[in-house]
Amino acid sequence: MAEECIFCNIVNGKTDTQFLYRDDRVVAFADIHPHAPVHDLIVPFQHIRSVNDLQSLDQELMAHMVMTGRELARQRGVDQSGYKLLFNVEWGGGQRIFHIHMHLLGGWDKEK
Ligand code: 5GP
Ligand code: ZN
Repeated sequence: MAEECIFCNIVNGKTDTQFLYRDDRVVAFADIHPHAPVHDLIVPFQHIRSVNDLQSLDQELMAHMVMTGRELARQRGVDQSGYKLLFNVEWGGGQRIFHIHMHLLGGWDKEK
């Protein structure tokens, strides 16, 4: 666990953040500043800085994050209308929290 990392603190239960999902590898919770009607974050317990720092060993974890995002989209009722699973990578890619995480964004066009 990295000192002073807000997402390490969240995944380790050191804040009052409510989890939408939790298992032995990842947690999911609502983004504090949503950019979409549904905006959640899927965050691994493991502190990895960004996509750039992934190693071959992390492939299964990344696949698990995508599958968790898909299941969360279903639970949030946006799977049929559509959604985005998004990684921001490093500062120029919009990343501001340097503990890897995946955004689930959706809920705009539910009528179509
Ligand atoms: P990034 O820009 O690094 O890809 O995304 C970080 C996201 O984390 C942002 O959308 C931001 O709103 C969210 N965030 C930052 N701090 C907190 C927090 O303390 N709690 C929650 N729930 N979300 C946070
Ligand atoms: Zn961390």
